[in-house]
Amino acid sequence: MTSFVLATANPHKAVEMRAILEAMGFVVLARPKDVSDVDETEVTLEGNALLKARALVNATGHAAVADDTGLFVDALDGQPGVRSARYAGEGAGDQANLDKVLAELVQTGDVARRARFCTVIAVAYPDGTAICVDGVLEGSISHEQRGSGGFGYDSIFLPDDTPGRSLAQLSADEKNEVSHRARALRALPLALGPK
Ligand code: IMP
Repeated sequence: MTSFVLATANPHKAVEMRAILEAMGFVVLARPKDVSDVDETEVTLEGNALLKARALVNATGHAAVADDTGLFVDALDGQPGVRSARYAGEGAGDQANLDKVLAELVQTGDVARRARFCTVIAVAYPDGTAICVDGVLEGSISHEQRGSGGFGYDSIFLPDDTPGRSLAQLSADEKNEVSHRARALRALPLALGPK
């Protein structure tokens, strides 16, 4: 059975990734607590996902799987994008980040508020090889927060696939059915091949 160390330090993402990967038959090993956070210094999701996966390979000597995700809002020229985690400034929390998106969308007057979540999943191996897959969830930004589930920008994102409900109004299983992260992870078996 193929096993990976989880490279994400975000506990919400770790729960989602573990559930999806285990349902696909992968064995998921916890991220060792003594590994420090990896600075996301690259300018693409792929670059940052690879940084995180390779850091965990170096720390553990084991194959590792990492996620990097961004929210891309059309009326904000694709922002927050790769800077989604620190949109309201270094160390900003989820609430400050999503408040900034809502405030900026009032300024643009855009009515469609089209947006998408993009996730890149990177798998890195001790032999130095790596592969990446991606997943996209199309939707729009709500006018106010809706729901109390999920994390990050979930409460302001209305997926096209769940009309009238934000990601934060879905159960964990429902989110894992439709999400950007699930779409990327489900592309893994084909991309990994027989390795
Ligand atoms: P990163 O991929 O850990 O860099 O996360 C980027 C930013 O997007 C953080 O602010 C996260 O809270 C947010 N984020 C990542 N994944 C999701 C998600 O599935 N739903 C909502 N927000 C997310």
